[in-house]
Amino acid sequence: MATGVTMTLEEIDKKYVLGTYARDYTNFVKGVGATLYDEAGKDYIDFASGIAVNSVGHGNEKLANAICEQAKRIIHISNLQVIEPQAKLAKRMVELSGYDMGVFFANSGAEANEGAIKIARKYGETHFKKKRYKVITLEHSFHGRTITTVKATGQESFHTPHFSPYPDGFSYVPSISDVYDAIDDETVAVLLELVQGEGGVQPFEKDEVQKLAAFLKEKEVLLIVDEVQTGVYRTGEFLASNLYEIEPDIITLAKGLGGGVPIGAVMTSHKEVLKAGDHGSTFGGNYLSTTAGNTVLEILSEAYESGRLHETLLYFETKLKDIAAQHEDLFEKEVGLGLMRGLRAKSTEIQAAVIKQAMQERLVVLKAGRNTVRFLPSLTITKAEIDEGFKRFEKALISL
Ligand SMILES: *Cc1c(COP(=O)(O)O)cnc(C)c1O
Repeated sequence: MATGVTMTLEEIDKKYVLGTYARDYTNFVKGVGATLYDEAGKDYIDFASGIAVNSVGHGNEKLANAICEQAKRIIHISNLQVIEPQAKLAKRMVELSGYDMGVFFANSGAEANEGAIKIARKYGETHFKKKRYKVITLEHSFHGRTITTVKATGQESFHTPHFSPYPDGFSYVPSISDVYDAIDDETVAVLLELVQGEGGVQPFEKDEVQKLAAFLKEKEVLLIVDEVQTGVYRTGEFLASNLYEIEPDIITLAKGLGGGVPIGAVMTSHKEVLKAGDHGSTFGGNYLSTTAGNTVLEILSEAYESGRLHETLLYFETKLKDIAAQHEDLFEKEVGLGLMRGLRAKSTEIQAAVIKQAMQERLVVLKAGRNTVRFLPSLTITKAEIDEGFKRFEKALISL
């Protein structure tokens, strides 16, 4: 690179950042609610919220103020000291869940799932004469990108030989009804998402989940529910487990919990399994992330209690169903729950074209699986933003 030549942002990114993402190069510089602005000041409606992360929208003043105030006082101290907002966030999460659980804080979804698997493995060693260690997961699931959670992910394409060898003890079944026969005397846990997010926004049936949960309890096999995407009111309740009316042994959370500040959490009713020294994290649950978590839950529990959240998700669902019905040429069906929604496109090509054309109309939507167009708007999105977003989506569809 000749000196004096100014590089574009895209050039800098491509030269210095490892190319692990197929990136779009729109440069967003500001966000207000569910509206993003690029460097030229053009507005975009955000139906993706950073992959279910910006649960209270962009530029949320209450969240920004809480983070700023906390940052000025104290951002971080190690987990060797008590951390007031961490303790308060754990209490709040347990109370909102309605389960008698304890919480461990990490920094991401994958790390939360690692913690869940560690709890299960130790439980499997300490509670049975013969150690149980195997974990059954579902095909089309997604549980993270670390070596272990990638192996827990039930998609063969993720288990490339590049990263082998992988840890032992993970197996996959096509559907919930196949879990029963897959359990043996070394099975310690079943790990699943109640709505498979990355796999295609596919919810499982409530009665089959309840039946499985009861069976696992009877067999003393742990049920781990990965709520990294479904948690924090995404499906309309605090946890999808609340919506499904089950009591898992372990629940993992991340994405929406910090409103954009990295945080992950494992909740479990088996509070006695991990002892001092068994697990840890330098950053996990620090002042900054747990202050963000407390503020996000304050905002969202108020939206839930007031009925506003429920109104928003019904409004979004109705609009999405209308548009799906008008475009049966492109979409097979509408899928999902709450504000975790998808349109199942008739082909991968249609999926790609719809997402690209939506961006042309300044609407951000996501993909999931091979043929789903995915919608994960912020939980505080306004009706006006929903209307404008669907207006742009309609324009994108008719111009295909
Ligand atoms: C996103 C996601 C993860 C991984 O979370 P990271 O924060 O990217 O590690 C795990 N499980 C589910 C269900 C997810 O949606």
